Amino acid sequence: MKGKAEVITRFAPSPTGPLHLGHAYSAILAHDMARNTGGKFLLRIEDIDQSRARPHWEEQIFDDLRWLGLSWDGPVMRQSERLNIYREALDNLWQRDFLFACNCTRRDIEAAVSAPQEGVSYGPDGLIYPGTCRESGARKPGQTLPDAALRLNMARAAQDIQFEEICEIHRGTHHISRTELIEKVGDVVLARRDMGTSYHLAVVLDDAAQRITHVTRGADLFDATQIHVLLQNLLELPTPTYCHHDLIRDKNGKRLAKRDDARAIATYRADGASPADIRRMVGLPPAT
Ligand code: GLU
Repeated sequence: MKGKAEVITRFAPSPTGPLHLGHAYSAILAHDMARNTGGKFLLRIEDIDQSRARPHWEEQIFDDLRWLGLSWDGPVMRQSERLNIYREALDNLWQRDFLFACNCTRRDIEAAVSAPQEGVSYGPDGLIYPGTCRESGARKPGQTLPDAALRLNMARAAQDIQFEEICEIHRGTHHISRTELIEKVGDVVLARRDMGTSYHLAVVLDDAAQRITHVTRGADLFDATQIHVLLQNLLELPTPTYCHHDLIRDKNGKRLAKRDDARAIATYRADGASPADIRRMVGLPPAT
């Protein structure tokens, strides 16, 4: 009899601040999903934004996870060591005419979309790009990657996509049409000029490289998933199963932010809380 495929989950924090209760919840869910099925739990440090990433936050992440009793398998993946992989994928998409170079600032985009003839609408990355550089930034024959932000030409790249969601809030099979991607997502940035990649591109390539079968993360990233699934299709990478969990909120119902130091795991630790207390606070059963 053929065995069931191994479950591989991951926790992918950015070392830009202390881990808070929301991170603990995300990490414990991914960890327990792997451990309960005899699978693997991997760790990835999402440090492409070098202007904000700090080594001491990375150390604190390791320390907090160990304290929570979460062990990870294999070496830690670090995005800052994978820039050549991102570049290769961009080159592939560029050669296929799916990208265009763009030097628009946020202000340029705001000015263009607030022009009276345009309808203002928002996608997973904020304002939907009005297409200003789509023609002028297109590839010339034989041209190598330009030193500019690179956007996906959605009208050229879009196709009908689908993915499976197993967490409660969005449970089911999600179908997104080519037209919806063009109208509701638009020409998203795949490489920021200062980073040489973007969260969307990096996360897709990294999940594939780590052979992640189940992506467990907060529901705030649910809308970004359609971009990820489209990129997986374009780059011929497998689409994992998704689990977008609910977000841990403060007493006033506000989402916890990294800068919310009062909710940092380290603060609870310093105040004498135990890992079991943290599990209880985020509504999870005791560790088995
Ligand atoms: N690095 C992201 C964060 O810290 C998580 C991205 C993901 O899980 O896909 O919010």
